[in-house]
Amino acid sequence: MNFSGEKAQLEIEVSNVIQRTEDVKSVRFRRPKGFDYLSGQWAFVTVGGEEEQKTKPLSFSSSPTEDFLEFTKRLTGHEFSNDFAAMEVGDAATIRGPYGKLTLQENHNKICMLSGGIGVTPLRSMIRYSTDKVLETSIILLYSNRFEDDSIAFMDDFDEMQARNPNFRVIITITRPNQAWKGLTGRINQEMVEKTVPDYAERIFYSCGPKPMVDAMVDTLSKIGLPEAQIKYKYFSGYLGAPGEKFT
Ligand SMILES: Cc1cc2nc3c(=O)[nH]c(=O)nc-3n(C[C@H](O)[C@H](O)[C@H](O)COP(=O)(O)OP(=O)(O)OC[C@H]3O[C@@H](n4cnc5c(N)ncnc54)[C@H](O)[C@@H]3O)c2cc1C
Repeated sequence: MNFSGEKAQLEIEVSNVIQRTEDVKSVRFRRPKGFDYLSGQWAFVTVGGEEEQKTKPLSFSSSPTEDFLEFTKRLTGHEFSNDFAAMEVGDAATIRGPYGKLTLQENHNKICMLSGGIGVTPLRSMIRYSTDKVLETSIILLYSNRFEDDSIAFMDDFDEMQARNPNFRVIITITRPNQAWKGLTGRINQEMVEKTVPDYAERIFYSCGPKPMVDAMVDTLSKIGLPEAQIKYKYFSGYLGAPGEKFT
Protein backbone atom coordinates (compact mmCIF):
# COMPACT_ATOMS: atom_id res chain seq x y z
CA MET A 1 0.00 0.00 0.00
CA ASN A 2 1.40 3.36 -0.94
CA PHE A 3 -0.20 6.65 -0.13
CA SER A 4 2.76 8.71 0.87
CA GLY A 5 2.85 10.65 -2.42
CA GLU A 6 0.61 13.53 -3.49
CA LYS A 7 -2.05 11.07 -4.72
CA ALA A 8 -2.58 7.78 -2.97
CA GLN A 9 -2.67 4.53 -4.92
CA LEU A 10 -3.91 1.83 -2.65
CA GLU A 11 -5.56 -1.53 -2.52
CA ILE A 12 -8.79 -1.60 -0.58
CA GLU A 13 -11.01 -4.46 0.56
CA VAL A 14 -14.77 -4.73 0.10
CA SER A 15 -16.61 -4.61 3.43
CA ASN A 16 -20.23 -4.39 2.23
CA VAL A 17 -22.32 -4.29 -0.92
CA ILE A 18 -25.64 -2.43 -1.15
CA GLN A 19 -28.11 -2.75 -4.02
CA ARG A 20 -29.57 0.78 -4.03
CA THR A 21 -32.10 0.27 -6.83
CA GLU A 22 -32.53 -2.23 -9.64
CA ASP A 23 -29.67 -0.65 -11.60
CA VAL A 24 -27.63 1.20 -8.98
CA LYS A 25 -25.19 -0.53 -6.66
CA SER A 26 -22.89 0.73 -3.90
CA VAL A 27 -19.71 -1.06 -2.89
CA ARG A 28 -18.19 -0.16 0.48
CA PHE A 29 -14.52 -0.65 1.31
CA ARG A 30 -12.57 -0.60 4.53
CA ARG A 31 -11.09 2.88 4.81
CA PRO A 32 -7.32 2.72 5.21
CA LYS A 33 -5.96 4.72 8.12
CA GLY A 34 -4.59 8.05 6.95
CA PHE A 35 -6.53 8.17 3.67
CA ASP A 36 -8.28 11.54 3.51
CA TYR A 37 -10.51 13.15 0.92
CA LEU A 38 -13.06 15.93 0.67
CA SER A 39 -16.79 15.40 0.22
CA GLY A 40 -17.57 15.56 -3.49
CA GLN A 41 -14.21 14.24 -4.71
CA TRP A 42 -13.60 11.21 -6.93
CA ALA A 43 -10.97 8.54 -7.58
CA PHE A 44 -9.86 6.17 -10.33
CA VAL A 45 -11.21 2.77 -9.32
CA THR A 46 -9.66 -0.41 -10.76
CA VAL A 47 -11.53 -3.70 -10.59
CA GLY A 48 -11.16 -7.15 -12.15
CA GLY A 49 -8.61 -9.92 -12.03
CA GLU A 50 -4.90 -9.23 -12.62
CA GLU A 51 -5.07 -9.76 -16.40
CA GLU A 52 -8.43 -8.12 -16.93
CA GLN A 53 -8.13 -4.93 -14.91
CA LYS A 54 -10.47 -2.10 -15.82
CA THR A 55 -10.42 1.44 -14.47
CA LYS A 56 -13.08 4.17 -14.30
CA PRO A 57 -13.38 7.46 -12.42
CA LEU A 58 -16.05 7.20 -9.71
CA SER A 59 -17.16 9.73 -7.11
CA PHE A 60 -17.01 8.92 -3.44
CA SER A 61 -20.63 8.55 -2.36
CA SER A 62 -19.36 8.22 1.20
CA SER A 63 -18.49 11.23 3.32
CA PRO A 64 -15.11 11.82 5.00
CA THR A 65 -17.06 11.60 8.27
CA GLU A 66 -17.77 7.90 7.62
CA ASP A 67 -15.34 5.12 8.46
CA PHE A 68 -15.70 3.37 5.09
CA LEU A 69 -15.12 4.38 1.47
CA GLU A 70 -18.12 3.92 -0.81
CA PHE A 71 -18.51 4.11 -4.59
CA THR A 72 -21.90 3.87 -6.27
CA LYS A 73 -22.27 2.89 -9.91
CA ARG A 74 -25.13 2.90 -12.37
CA LEU A 75 -25.08 -0.63 -13.78
CA THR A 76 -24.82 -0.49 -17.56
CA GLY A 77 -24.05 -4.13 -18.44
CA HIS A 78 -20.66 -3.08 -19.78
CA GLU A 79 -17.33 -4.62 -18.76
CA PHE A 80 -16.29 -2.41 -15.84
CA SER A 81 -19.86 -2.21 -14.61
CA ASN A 82 -20.25 -6.00 -14.55
CA ASP A 83 -17.02 -6.48 -12.62
CA PHE A 84 -18.05 -3.74 -10.17
CA ALA A 85 -21.49 -5.33 -9.74
CA ALA A 86 -19.94 -8.74 -9.08
CA MET A 87 -17.78 -7.56 -6.19
CA GLU A 88 -18.24 -9.41 -2.91
CA VAL A 89 -17.10 -8.89 0.66
CA GLY A 90 -13.37 -9.64 0.87
CA ASP A 91 -12.62 -8.80 -2.79
CA ALA A 92 -9.98 -6.16 -3.54
CA ALA A 93 -9.97 -3.05 -5.74
CA THR A 94 -7.33 -0.40 -6.32
CA ILE A 95 -8.04 3.31 -6.09
CA ARG A 96 -5.97 6.32 -7.09
CA GLY A 97 -6.95 9.70 -5.82
CA PRO A 98 -8.59 11.71 -4.46
CA TYR A 99 -9.21 14.22 -7.24
CA GLY A 100 -11.76 16.93 -7.86
CA LYS A 101 -12.43 20.55 -7.01
CA LEU A 102 -16.22 20.44 -6.76
CA THR A 103 -16.35 19.92 -3.01
CA LEU A 104 -18.62 21.30 -0.31
CA GLN A 105 -17.53 24.86 0.39
CA GLU A 106 -18.37 25.74 3.95
CA ASN A 107 -18.44 29.45 3.07
CA HIS A 108 -21.46 28.80 0.81
CA ASN A 109 -24.25 29.45 3.32
CA LYS A 110 -27.09 28.52 1.00
CA ILE A 111 -26.77 25.78 -1.61
CA CYS A 112 -29.19 24.19 -4.06
CA MET A 113 -28.15 20.89 -5.63
CA LEU A 114 -29.71 19.73 -8.89
CA SER A 115 -29.50 16.06 -9.76
CA GLY A 116 -31.04 13.89 -12.42
CA GLY A 117 -29.81 10.41 -11.60
CA ILE A 118 -26.40 8.95 -10.84
CA GLY A 119 -24.87 12.44 -10.51
CA VAL A 120 -26.32 12.32 -7.01
CA THR A 121 -23.27 10.38 -5.71
CA PRO A 122 -20.94 13.30 -4.85
CA LEU A 123 -23.96 15.32 -3.67
CA ARG A 124 -24.86 12.55 -1.20
CA SER A 125 -21.27 12.73 0.07
CA MET A 126 -21.56 16.49 0.64
CA ILE A 127 -25.00 16.29 2.28
CA ARG A 128 -23.83 13.52 4.62
CA TYR A 129 -20.74 15.57 5.50
CA SER A 130 -22.80 18.67 6.24
CA THR A 131 -25.27 16.66 8.34
CA ASP A 132 -22.62 14.79 10.34
CA LYS A 133 -20.66 18.00 10.98
CA VAL A 134 -23.89 19.80 11.99
CA LEU A 135 -23.04 22.65 9.62
CA GLU A 136 -25.41 25.57 9.33
CA THR A 137 -25.24 25.41 5.53
CA SER A 138 -28.74 25.36 4.09
CA ILE A 139 -28.98 22.68 1.38
CA ILE A 140 -31.92 21.96 -0.91
CA LEU A 141 -31.58 18.90 -3.17
CA LEU A 142 -33.89 18.98 -6.19
CA TYR A 143 -33.68 15.38 -7.35
CA SER A 144 -35.24 14.09 -10.55
CA ASN A 145 -35.94 10.39 -11.05
CA ARG A 146 -37.87 8.37 -13.58
CA PHE A 147 -39.91 6.31 -11.11
CA GLU A 148 -40.73 6.62 -7.43
CA ASP A 149 -40.48 4.14 -4.52
CA ASP A 150 -37.58 1.72 -4.76
CA SER A 151 -36.10 3.40 -7.82
CA ILE A 152 -34.65 6.43 -6.06
CA ALA A 153 -31.04 5.87 -5.04
CA PHE A 154 -30.26 6.96 -1.45
CA MET A 155 -33.89 7.89 -0.68
CA ASP A 156 -33.81 6.22 2.77
CA ASP A 157 -30.57 7.97 3.48
CA PHE A 158 -31.94 11.39 2.44
CA ASP A 159 -35.09 10.83 4.54
CA GLU A 160 -32.95 10.00 7.56
CA MET A 161 -30.72 13.06 7.05
CA GLN A 162 -33.74 15.31 6.50
CA ALA A 163 -35.19 14.16 9.84
CA ARG A 164 -31.91 14.90 11.62
CA ASN A 165 -30.72 18.02 9.79
CA PRO A 166 -33.13 21.01 9.84
CA ASN A 167 -30.92 22.71 7.21
CA PHE A 168 -31.42 19.99 4.58
CA ARG A 169 -34.46 19.41 2.39
CA VAL A 170 -34.90 17.00 -0.52
CA ILE A 171 -37.52 17.67 -3.21
CA ILE A 172 -38.28 14.79 -5.57
CA THR A 173 -39.65 15.14 -9.08
CA ILE A 174 -40.73 12.06 -11.04
CA THR A 175 -40.67 12.01 -14.84
CA ARG A 176 -42.78 8.85 -15.25
CA PRO A 177 -45.10 8.92 -12.25
CA ASN A 178 -47.85 6.43 -11.52
CA GLN A 179 -51.31 7.68 -10.60
CA ALA A 180 -50.67 7.54 -6.85
CA TRP A 181 -47.73 10.00 -7.01
CA LYS A 182 -48.71 13.31 -5.39
CA GLY A 183 -45.42 15.19 -5.72
CA LEU A 184 -43.73 17.14 -8.51
CA THR A 185 -43.62 15.64 -11.98
CA GLY A 186 -41.43 16.21 -15.02
CA ARG A 187 -37.81 17.20 -15.48
CA ILE A 188 -36.19 20.00 -13.54
CA ASN A 189 -36.87 23.24 -15.40
CA GLN A 190 -36.90 26.99 -14.88
CA GLU A 191 -40.46 27.14 -13.51
CA MET A 192 -39.79 24.28 -11.07
CA VAL A 193 -36.67 25.93 -9.67
CA GLU A 194 -38.42 29.30 -9.30
CA LYS A 195 -41.44 27.73 -7.52
CA THR A 196 -39.70 25.23 -5.26
CA VAL A 197 -36.63 27.31 -4.39
CA PRO A 198 -38.03 30.82 -3.89
CA ASP A 199 -34.70 32.14 -2.58
CA TYR A 200 -32.80 30.74 -5.58
CA ALA A 201 -31.08 34.07 -6.24
CA GLU A 202 -29.27 33.76 -2.88
CA ARG A 203 -28.08 30.19 -3.46
CA ILE A 204 -24.99 28.62 -5.00
CA PHE A 205 -26.06 25.81 -7.34
CA TYR A 206 -24.17 22.52 -7.59
CA SER A 207 -24.80 19.95 -10.32
CA CYS A 208 -22.95 16.77 -11.37
CA GLY A 209 -23.59 13.91 -13.75
CA PRO A 210 -23.68 13.00 -17.41
CA LYS A 211 -22.95 15.99 -19.68
CA PRO A 212 -26.41 16.31 -21.31
CA MET A 213 -28.07 16.46 -17.90
CA VAL A 214 -25.59 18.96 -16.45
CA ASP A 215 -25.74 21.14 -19.58
CA ALA A 216 -29.55 21.22 -19.27
CA MET A 217 -29.23 22.33 -15.63
CA VAL A 218 -26.68 25.05 -16.44
CA ASP A 219 -28.88 26.25 -19.29
CA THR A 220 -31.93 26.41 -16.98
CA LEU A 221 -29.99 28.40 -14.39
CA SER A 222 -28.64 30.80 -17.01
CA LYS A 223 -32.19 31.44 -18.24
CA ILE A 224 -33.24 32.21 -14.67
CA GLY A 225 -30.51 34.85 -14.73
CA LEU A 226 -28.06 33.36 -12.26
CA PRO A 227 -24.51 34.59 -12.80
CA GLU A 228 -21.85 31.99 -13.70
CA ALA A 229 -20.18 32.43 -10.33
CA GLN A 230 -23.26 30.95 -8.65
CA ILE A 231 -23.21 27.77 -10.77
CA LYS A 232 -20.73 24.99 -9.90
CA TYR A 233 -20.78 21.79 -11.94
CA LYS A 234 -18.89 18.62 -12.81
CA TYR A 235 -19.34 16.34 -15.81
CA PHE A 236 -19.21 12.56 -15.38
CA SER A 237 -17.44 12.37 -18.73
CA GLY A 238 -14.87 14.07 -20.86
CA TYR A 239 -11.13 14.50 -20.78
CA LEU A 240 -9.63 13.96 -17.37
CA GLY A 241 -6.05 14.64 -18.32
CA ALA A 242 -3.04 12.46 -19.03
CA PRO A 243 -0.98 10.73 -16.32
CA GLY A 244 1.06 13.36 -14.54
CA GLU A 245 -1.37 16.15 -15.33
CA LYS A 246 -3.40 17.64 -12.57
CA PHE A 247 -6.97 16.33 -12.67
CA THR A 248 -9.84 18.56 -11.60
C1 LIG B 1 -15.19 12.69 -12.30
C2 LIG B 1 -16.15 11.58 -12.61
C3 LIG B 1 -16.93 11.00 -11.60
C4 LIG B 1 -17.83 9.97 -11.89
N1 LIG B 1 -18.58 9.43 -10.88
C5 LIG B 1 -19.45 8.41 -11.18
C6 LIG B 1 -20.23 7.80 -10.15
O1 LIG B 1 -20.14 8.15 -8.97
N2 LIG B 1 -21.07 6.80 -10.50
C7 LIG B 1 -21.21 6.37 -11.81
O2 LIG B 1 -22.01 5.46 -12.08
N3 LIG B 1 -20.48 6.93 -12.79
C8 LIG B 1 -19.60 7.93 -12.50
N4 LIG B 1 -18.84 8.47 -13.50
C9 LIG B 1 -18.96 7.90 -14.86
C10 LIG B 1 -18.15 6.61 -14.93
O3 LIG B 1 -16.77 6.89 -14.91
C11 LIG B 1 -18.44 5.83 -16.22
O4 LIG B 1 -18.08 6.58 -17.34
C12 LIG B 1 -19.90 5.48 -16.36
O5 LIG B 1 -20.38 4.94 -15.15
C13 LIG B 1 -20.11 4.46 -17.49
O6 LIG B 1 -19.19 3.41 -17.32
P1 LIG B 1 -19.49 1.92 -17.81
O7 LIG B 1 -18.25 1.14 -17.70
O8 LIG B 1 -20.68 1.37 -17.10
O9 LIG B 1 -19.92 2.11 -19.30
P2 LIG B 1 -18.98 2.30 -20.58
O10 LIG B 1 -18.64 0.96 -21.13
O11 LIG B 1 -17.88 3.22 -20.29
O12 LIG B 1 -20.02 2.99 -21.51
C14 LIG B 1 -20.37 4.35 -21.36
C15 LIG B 1 -21.44 4.68 -22.40
O13 LIG B 1 -20.90 4.42 -23.71
C16 LIG B 1 -21.81 3.74 -24.53
N5 LIG B 1 -21.33 2.37 -24.87
C17 LIG B 1 -20.15 1.82 -24.50
N6 LIG B 1 -20.02 0.59 -24.99
C18 LIG B 1 -21.13 0.33 -25.67
C19 LIG B 1 -21.61 -0.80 -26.39
N7 LIG B 1 -20.88 -1.90 -26.52
N8 LIG B 1 -22.81 -0.71 -26.97
C20 LIG B 1 -23.56 0.40 -26.86
N9 LIG B 1 -23.17 1.49 -26.20
C21 LIG B 1 -21.98 1.47 -25.61
C22 LIG B 1 -23.08 3.68 -23.74
O14 LIG B 1 -23.90 4.79 -24.06
C23 LIG B 1 -22.67 3.79 -22.31
O15 LIG B 1 -23.68 4.32 -21.46
C24 LIG B 1 -17.94 9.50 -13.22
C25 LIG B 1 -17.16 10.07 -14.23
C26 LIG B 1 -16.28 11.10 -13.93
C27 LIG B 1 -15.46 11.70 -15.04
